[in-house]
Amino acid sequence: MSTVWIIYFAAMGLVFGSFYNVVGLRVPKHESIAYPGSHCPKCGHPLSWYENIPVFSFLFLKGRCRGCKAPISVIYPVFEAITGLLFAYAFYRFGWSMELLLACLFISLLVIITISDLAYMLIPDRVLLPFAIAIAAVRLFYPAMPWWSAWAGAILGFGLLYLIAAVTKGGMGGGDIKLYFVIGLALGVERTFLSFFLACLFGALYGIGVLAAGRFKKRSPIPFGPFIAAGSLIAYFFGHTLIGIYMQFSGLR
Ligand SMILES: [Zn+2]
Repeated sequence: MSTVWIIYFAAMGLVFGSFYNVVGLRVPKHESIAYPGSHCPKCGHPLSWYENIPVFSFLFLKGRCRGCKAPISVIYPVFEAITGLLFAYAFYRFGWSMELLLACLFISLLVIITISDLAYMLIPDRVLLPFAIAIAAVRLFYPAMPWWSAWAGAILGFGLLYLIAAVTKGGMGGGDIKLYFVIGLALGVERTFLSFFLACLFGALYGIGVLAAGRFKKRSPIPFGPFIAAGSLIAYFFGHTLIGIYMQFSGLR
């Protein structure tokens, strides 16, 4: 029975992921997320239902608009697939529980801000605020362990990023700082630290990769949101295990 639900959550993730593409690409531009309906950004060709099926339509259309043959951004199927996989994994891990609700909210937030940060270098308040309220509400009824950890994590996440932004004079955007308040709520103190460490690590590895490929452009800022999202998801799902291993090897436990 649980396999059926895992498939169900994968399908829901695909559909929600498709919606999050729309949210992530339209909300920063202050456009409606309902009108106009999905269309080709090049020629305006409106998408019929069979051109709008997550992932499958992209494959079936071979990545091109049926109207003008312009290539469709791989952002769409990639984030649909990622959301589908993460929703399915969340159900596999947590089953029907408050943690599942928290996981789906957290995944949704991170997918949307990754898309908007990649597209516009922006993490909009109009995305952050509803998720901050929803995740805080879950944490009221379903506290972290210990109960104060989520609230301390929020203050720590916000404070840490604010401090780094002040020291580096703009090395960290306002959206990143506010995002870490919400991440802290979801992760609690320990895993918030871990998520930031991982985000910096991934960012540094990416930087080294770009340098090695000789494609470094001076003063071309890169969005930090995708690295924060990756670090936070790993910290969320595997943080307790990773911190346990670290403690063992460092002799702290
Ligand atoms: Zn087109």
